[in-house]
Order: sequence, then C-alpha cells, then structure tokens
Amino acid sequence: SSVMEKILLRRSLQLRNQQQAWQESPEGQKMIDFRNSLPSYKERDVLLRAISDNQVIVVSGETGCGKTTQLPQYILESEIDATRGALCSIICTQPRRISAMSVSERVAAERGEQLGESVGYKVRLEGIKGRDTRLLFCTTGVLLRRLLVDRDLRGVTHVIVDEIHERGMNEDFLLIVLRDLLPRRPELRLILMSATLNAELFSSYFSGAPMMHIPGFTHPVRAHFLEDIVETTGYRLTPYNQVDDYGQEKMWKMQRQALRKRKSQIASSVEDALEAANFDKYSLRTRESLACWNPDSIGFNLIENVLCHICRNGRPGAVLVFMTGWDDINSLKEQLQAHPLLGDPSRVLVLACHGSMASSEQRLIFNKPEEGVRKIVLATNMAETSITINDVVFVVDCGKAKETSYDALNNTPCLLPSWISKASARQRRGRAGRVQPGECYHLYPRCVYDAFAEYQLPELLRTPLQSLCLQIKSLQLGSISEFLSRALQSPELLSVQNAIEYLKVIGALDEKENLTILGRHLSMLPVEPKLGKMLILGAIFNCLDPILTVVAGLSVRDPFLMPFDKKDLAESAKSQFAGKYYSDHLALVRAYEGWKDSEREGSGYDYCWKNFLSAQTLKAIDSLRKQFLVLLRDTGLLDDSTSDLLSHDEHLVRAVICGGLYPGVSSVVNKGKSISTKTMEDGQVLLYANSVNAREQRIPYPWLVFNEKVKVHAVFLRDSTAISDSMLLLFGGNLSQGGLDGHLKMLGGYLEFFMKPALADTYTKLKRELEELIQK
Ligand code: ADP
Ligand code: MG
Repeated sequence: SSVMEKILLRRSLQLRNQQQAWQESPEGQKMIDFRNSLPSYKERDVLLRAISDNQVIVVSGETGCGKTTQLPQYILESEIDATRGALCSIICTQPRRISAMSVSERVAAERGEQLGESVGYKVRLEGIKGRDTRLLFCTTGVLLRRLLVDRDLRGVTHVIVDEIHERGMNEDFLLIVLRDLLPRRPELRLILMSATLNAELFSSYFSGAPMMHIPGFTHPVRAHFLEDIVETTGYRLTPYNQVDDYGQEKMWKMQRQALRKRKSQIASSVEDALEAANFDKYSLRTRESLACWNPDSIGFNLIENVLCHICRNGRPGAVLVFMTGWDDINSLKEQLQAHPLLGDPSRVLVLACHGSMASSEQRLIFNKPEEGVRKIVLATNMAETSITINDVVFVVDCGKAKETSYDALNNTPCLLPSWISKASARQRRGRAGRVQPGECYHLYPRCVYDAFAEYQLPELLRTPLQSLCLQIKSLQLGSISEFLSRALQSPELLSVQNAIEYLKVIGALDEKENLTILGRHLSMLPVEPKLGKMLILGAIFNCLDPILTVVAGLSVRDPFLMPFDKKDLAESAKSQFAGKYYSDHLALVRAYEGWKDSEREGSGYDYCWKNFLSAQTLKAIDSLRKQFLVLLRDTGLLDDSTSDLLSHDEHLVRAVICGGLYPGVSSVVNKGKSISTKTMEDGQVLLYANSVNAREQRIPYPWLVFNEKVKVHAVFLRDSTAISDSMLLLFGGNLSQGGLDGHLKMLGGYLEFFMKPALADTYTKLKRELEELIQK
C-alpha cells in the first residue's frame, strides 16, 4: 500500500503543477480574473471552511452568482493545492442532461483543459470521463443508478446536489438515500445548492445543517403584463373561440374543468381573477382585446408581435423567450422563419434551447451574434436557473411550463402546460437583468400573476408514484411506504398504496411487494409502467411498429384536431382511419402511417390539413418513437430481425394494447341504437365524443380497454380499443402469478360483476387448450 500511496502522491503533485502552470499563463490569468469577479469568489474561503467543518451544508445564491461552475471547482482546486488531488472524487448532480453537459464543458475550459481530464460528465447513454477525472457532473438519475451497484459511494469524497429548489422527484428521492448514507460514511461531504432562499427546509431536513448565502447583484427589470403590452403595441387578440395554435380548444376546456373539479386552485383562480380584475384605466380597445384573451393557449401571434416590437423599438440585447416544450419551440421557430423581419438572418438569429438538443447547437446559445444581429433564444424552463445566457436584456414569458400532473387526469401522468408559480415568474424576469437594466414581457394579465401559487408543488406530491415505487424496489430500499415516509415532504399514504396495488395488478410486484422480472425491466425503462409493459409486449410478440406509435401517441397528445366549427368533418375524417377497428389507438396508427407515406412524397402538410391532424404532434410522435426504440434495444428484449413480423396482425396488436392498459377495462353493453359502458369502480361511464367508438351503434366486442378516465360531470373514457374475451383473459393482468387458476380468480370479479357467461366458456376452453399444450 505504500507503493500505492507513492503513486497517488506523485499524481497529486503533477496535478498541482499543471494547475499552477495554467493559472500563471496569460489565458489562465484572464480566466482567473473573470472568475474572481463573480459574487461567489468573495465567499470562497468561508465556503471551503464550512465544507471541511460540516458534513452537510446548504448554499443559496442568485442564479449566475457562480454556484454551479465555481463551488465544485473551489473544492477541486483546494484539494489539488493540498496535494490531495488524486485522492478526491467530487460528484455534482444536475436535474437535466443538457446542464450537466454544458456546465462540465465550461468548467473544463475555465481550467484550461479538455473534457475528460480532471473534469467530466455522465448522462444517460452518454459521457466523457477519464482515468484522472476528479470532478464529475452527472444527472441525478445517473447518481441514483450508481447507488444501485455502489450503495456506499465508496471512494466519493464530495457529493453536490444542485438546483434542489426545483424539488424534482429524483432530487427529493436522492436526498432520502443520502441522508441514510451519511452515518455510514462520516468523511463524505454533502453540499446542497439552491437558487432561492428556501434553505431552512433543507437545513432542518439534515438536522440543522449550516446555511450559507452568496449575496449577488442584478439590475432592475421592468415588468410588462398583457394589458401593458396590448396598450403600447395596439395588438388585437383574436376572439376566444377561434381555432388557436393548438386547435384543441375543446379538449383543453374539458381538462380545465377536470382540473378545477379536483384540487387545482390555480386554474379556477385564473378565471376568478379575470372576473374581478379592473381594467378601467386602459383604453376600450385594450379592454376589448383582453376579453378575447384565451388563458388556455399560448398565442404564437402574440409572441411574434412582441418580438417585432422589441426588434423595432428595443435597445440592443438578446431576447430570451420562455416556452413550454420542444414541440411549441419548434413550431414557433418555423412560424418566425416565415416572418419578413424575424426570419431575416441578417437581422435576427433565432435559436432553440431545450433538453434534447445536440451540444453543437447548444454552444451557439452562449455565443455573441454578429454585429447588428439580434439573438432570440426560444427556451424551456431550464433557462430559468440551470443555464445562464449572459447578454439577455429582454425576456418574454408565456407563463406556462410543462409539468406532469397526477391529480388532474385521474392517475395518468400527462404533460400539459400549466401555470408557473410566482417564484418561477420572478426568476424568469430576473434573467433580463444580468448585464444591464432589462425588460420582461409577461404574456398574461397582472391579475393572473397575482393568482399564481407562491411556489410549485414538489414533483413527488403531484406525479403518480408507480415509477418511483418501482425504483425504490430496484434499489432495494425496503418497504416502499416506510421509505417514502422519510421524504422531505411525504406523499399521501393512499397514493402510495394505490401505486403499490397497481404494480401488483400489472405484475410488476408480487404479493410480498418484491420486484418481479417484468418489474425489473419496467424499472429500467423511463416511461410509465403501463407504457413500458406495452412496449415490452410489443417487442416480445413481434408487433413493435404499431405499438411504438400507440405508446408515443399516448405520451404526447392526441394528433386528431377537433375544431369547434368543423366538428362533423373532423370526426368523420377520424373515423375513416378507424375503419371497422373499433379502436382509437389503431386509428392513430393508421393516421400516423398515412402521414409518414405522405411525408416521403413531400405532401405531409396537405395530408394533415385534409385529415384534421396536427403535423406538430405527429412530428413529436415520430421523434419519440425513435427514442423508445433506443430504450428497448437497451433492455435486450428486442430482436430487430423479427420485431415486426406480426405488425400487420390487427388482433395481436389489439391484445398487446390490452396487455398494457389493463386494468383499464370497461364492459360494453349494446342496447338498441346506443352503446353504454360500465367499469367496476364507476358503474356507468361515457365515451368521450372524440372517440371513434362513440360514433358506433354497436360494438361487436364485449370489452373496451382505455388509457384514461376523466371525471367531469360524469366519468368519461378517452381513447379506447375494443377487445375480445380471450384477449382479456390472456393479456389482461398477470398470468405468471398464481398460474391460470389465480388468474381466473382475479378475473372472477369481472365475471360476477358483469355476468358474462361467455367469458367463463372461453376461459374453460382456453385453459384446456393451454394445458394440452403444456403437456406436449
Ligand atoms: P449559478 O450556478 O450560481 O447560477 P453559474 O456557476 O452557472 O452560476 O454561472 C456563473 C457565471 O459563469 C455566469 O454568470 C456566467 O457569467 C458564467 N458562465 C457560466 N456558464 C458559461 C458559459 N457556458 N459560457 C460563458 N460564461 C459562462
Ligand atoms: Mg447553477
């Protein structure tokens, strides 16, 4: 071991010499000057002392003060200076892959190195990291997966958890694990970093860990709300009921009602706030325009108008536009490209910034544009805190962010844009004041801002817990409910129990709450368990292609548009895809395939126009399909040479859909000219008017499987697919547990409840056939 020590000491000395050489070089000197001008530099020594004196500390400071790029580097430098460079191992987690990548690149550059020397990064499926990497930026998910194989994080000296104020599910989850780990690793140091001043919560979670604050300076930013924008620009909003950018007015209305029925106070308080607001001091024209404002849509035309206003009248400086996601960023970008001013590359440079972007494209965001060209960056809420674009002077805030909501849509996580919190809105506004006084355009009235929640609800309390429960099991963290009771804020016991029950029913957990083989596979797929199961079944049964489309469709949103004034035309366009399939999911598959064919011939847009389809949604589905395929290859369950042999078999595809959506089953009652359906929990349920099955007078199948129920004044089923008795028996639930008889017992509930003797007959026949097969 003394040989080992000598090697480490020699390596540490080398690292120190390297670092000193860089710091003394002219370039290094310039970098040092920049770094020393950041607010965090003044606290460097205090921070380092606190870290060495305490096992846990909580650091807060304005975005841009130097937490992410500087603090991990201070630790690294001081270890190297103390010739412990080769002994330290610092891990800094980021909630998003793009920030892990861009920050590591920046830190390597500040140290005059290439990535993979002392600084590296690791995100899912990608990473750069060398033998001598001592500071690793990774996503929170990557660290959680490392804990799977290395429970004690042996060899790690410092863990830095960044952006904890976001209260992402992974971060909250990681904190429980780390808190349990600390007593086993007394020399391990944990640093929690946050952009806002809610440090007490975290400090008390770690039995009163010291809190450090980095004071910062930002320039004032003037806020313009919608009424001010309309008043100054004279822009006229279009009437509420016209087809908007999403063309999904009706669906949104329904979802908003559902939201309001459940406990989202925000949606209803927006309405109330608008009722109560007083716009008397504004001109009639402005008041008329405000009355047309549609809180449910992100008006692209309004954004375009504001951007024009800035480009024509504003001082020089970059513009940062907060959008909700990849798809609306792309469509806005397309729209702007067609604009005479905003689409002119000699005057305006429009860039996108979102999580799934290539890193070469990423770098452009930080670059200064050419003289006389205005940079406009369209970003998701990751530009709120994770990354800092220095030259931003104008911010345009749509007021929304995509978040997964659990309560809102009955047990189904659904990425819908929803209102942000006051804290987020302030944070967005602050991004305009980095270098000089700035301007922020909020695309909603001030009264709506006043109705925003103070902070966003932690993700753990608003998303379904099924995936999390699987992860707890795969990390072998013991009893799920006991583990979650130790969270910063624990979810309700009932939602934990629901999640466990669900996982048992679909066969991911056994009776004793142990992970099954299926459960292990599902825990490795970063999609909802039901969608994961559908993908796995699609791969195993060699009908993957249509299943990829169905799963992608269920994860994005419905591409079938239903404009108010052309409802009949739109509905018949949709049912033409449904043929006699009695399935919304199969209609989607046909529509997607038709679109792909037209795209190849260059007539994709015509096709969408004729068939009332959203090209934007179809594109999002297309790209998700590709991502799912990559994920499935990782599982090793996919045989590319056979995976589509049976894709044409409509019955098999139907059965696989059933396998994923079970226990979402309702019984079909054909009565006279109309169809009624029942589920065990709700009794009578209605079909959403958009469903192809709602237009049928008779469905020649006994059951419907569905993805989600929405409770409005009655319970409605969204997309559904008709299935037969044998499909339900063979693919519904979990044949592997308790064998055939156990399976019948479970389905016995259905039998008795709906009194379907045919099911029993089919069952007996199937059982006989299967037993004969097994004997052979
Ligand atoms: P915080 O984590 O406190 O929000 P950062 O450490 O991310 O702050 O950034 C500190 C400063 O470093 C920023 O204000 C910015 O000036 C600079 N900076 C960060 N990333 C880059 C980059 N990729 N290119 C140039 N400057 C950067
Ligand atoms: Mg940061």
